[in-house]
Order: sequence, then C-alpha cells, then structure tokens
Amino acid sequence: YRSKAKGRGSFTVFTLDMVASHKRKLHLANAIEQSLSQNEFEVYYQVKVNKHAEIVGLEALLRWEHPEFGMVMPSEFIPIAEQGGKISAITQWVIERVSEDLPRLRQWLNKRFRVSINLSGHDLRNSHLFDNIYTVFQSYQVNPEYVEFEVTESAYLENFALSNKFFKRMSNMGCAIALDDFGTGYSSLSYLTQISIDTLKIDKQFIRELETSERSQLVTGAIIDLAKRLSLSVCAEGIEGPFQWQYLTVHGCDQIQGYMFSKPVPLSTLLEMPAAFDVAALVNKQ
Ligand code: C2E
Ligand code: MG
Ligand code: MG
Ligand code: MG
Repeated sequence: YRSKAKGRGSFTVFTLDMVASHKRKLHLANAIEQSLSQNEFEVYYQVKVNKHAEIVGLEALLRWEHPEFGMVMPSEFIPIAEQGGKISAITQWVIERVSEDLPRLRQWLNKRFRVSINLSGHDLRNSHLFDNIYTVFQSYQVNPEYVEFEVTESAYLENFALSNKFFKRMSNMGCAIALDDFGTGYSSLSYLTQISIDTLKIDKQFIRELETSERSQLVTGAIIDLAKRLSLSVCAEGIEGPFQWQYLTVHGCDQIQGYMFSKPVPLSTLLEMPAAFDVAALVNKQ
C-alpha cells in the first residue's frame, strides 16, 4: 500500500496494475458460464438504416453487466472467451436470446428486416454449429429469413472449405451472411468469387477517416463498387456525422449503421425508437 502512495508512473504501481488486470482476466474467464446462466449478459441492438433513414436491419451486440466490474465490453471478453474455449456457450446464448426477442422485434418494425448475429472464427470450427442453430430456430419457431450472420473475412478464410460448407447450408436455410470488417483482412480478392455471402460490411476504420482521408474515400467507394459488381449488398458501420452519411448515400451504400442514428441499446430502449429517422433534424442537432 505504501508503494501505491508513490503515485502513478512508479514501477511498483505499474506492476500492481498488471497483477490487477491479470486477476480480472482470470476472473472473467472463470465466470463466463455462470454469468450466462445468471443473465448477467445482455444482447444490445444497433439499428442499420437505408438511404431513406428507415430501419432495415439490426445488429446484436453483446454486453456483460458484471456485478463487480460494471459494464464489460465484447472487445475484452470475446478474446478471453475464445482463449478459454467458452465462445460456443456465448454464441449459443446470443442465438437463443435473439430468437426469443425476434417476435417482439417483428411486431415493432412490422416489415422485412434482418437481425445480425456475430460469429467468431472459433465458432466455425465447431462441427455442431449448424445443428445447434437449427435446433434453436426450431424451438423458437424462428424464420431464418429474418436472421443474418456476420463473420470477419479472416475468420471465414481461416478454414475456407469448412466455412463455405457451413454458410452454404445456412444460406439454403434462408439466413443471410455478411463479411464483417471488410478491407482489413486479406489482400487477395480472388476468394470473393467462390464464397457464399450476401453482404460486404465496410470496416469502420475507413468510415472514421472518411472526411479527412481521400484514400479512405477511394477505398470506401471501391468497396461499394466491388459489392455492386458482385451483386452483393453493402453495409457501412461507424457513421457518426453528416459528411459520412452524405458520402455513403451518394455512392449507393445500401445499409448504414452508426452512432449518428443510435448506439447499441437494450431491447426495451430499441422498442421505443421510431422505425425511421429524420436526417435533417439529426444534422441540425450536430
Ligand atoms: P463488430 O461486429 O464490427 O461490431 C461493430 C462495433 O462498432 C460495435 O462495437 C459497435 O458498437 C461499434 N460501433 C457502431 N457504430 C459506431 C460508431 O458510430 N462509432 C464507433 N466508435 N463505434 C461504433 P462493440 O459492440 O463494442 O463490439 C465490438 C466487437 O465485438 C464487434 O465488432 C464484434 O466483433 C464483437 N462482438 C460483439 N458482440 C458479439 C457477439 O455476440 N458474438 C461475437 N462472437 N462477437 C461479438
Ligand atoms: Mg459485426
Ligand atoms: Mg465490424
Ligand atoms: Mg470488429
């Protein structure tokens, strides 16, 4: 405790921080399964809109409301779950919660939309994944045409043959598939002609730099073009302001997701949102 009094920046404090972070990591790793069963996790939803600012999709994004640590974000606990072999329990839980929420989501929007669920690369190595999803969909009477799965290109390509087989089956069942964080993974595009996907999702890194970087504009425009030529739909995430909105809608981006419209929110908050936004009002507010 004396060393703590020496203040930040001293070697001892740094070590204590490291110990604390290691302990936190261990604690989280060991708590995942029990926390899932105790519903400390919650599925948040973030809207995706079309060029008319009408909601056309949702992304399910997981949050962990830990009784001791407060809100723990997926960027922290997903890698921990992956390392500890707990990702399939998380995925199963998310698919069940989304399936359970779907009737209320459909009642709220009252039109066609898809809710997206993120899959990790580790999920794709689980040979029971398709059967697990199929079983959940059966028991909750989910229409697969309301569901999309998002997977990063690196996760998809890690085990190309297996991923392709899995996503073809998902696709035949009626689910859509989106390639998440597109543009940050592999440099070779040759695989795009062989894979079974519906949507390219432009990584938010390009969107963040859109206003200040001509290169990001060029890459974003090129990805939209590429998607069109391949008859894929294209989604951009991380839209926070009017410049990005303008650029993306003018260039024909089909779906737009970002804090400009809404952060990810709990189901109860989502259900109070209108089905479309007034862009002029949003821009004036800025
Ligand atoms: P992702 O799938 O690429 O999800 C988009 C992330 O961008 C989300 O972060 C979202 O909150 C954030 N985002 C959206 N719009 C904006 C914006 O305008 N500005 C900024 N700064 N950020 C924005 P989140 O919820 O923290 O999730 C991070 C990542 O964790 C996700 O990236 C996904 O890879 C992973 N993840 C989240 N939920 C799940 C899940 O249920 N299962 C799996 N396997 N991974 C998940
Ligand atoms: Mg995603
Ligand atoms: Mg992404
Ligand atoms: Mg990401």
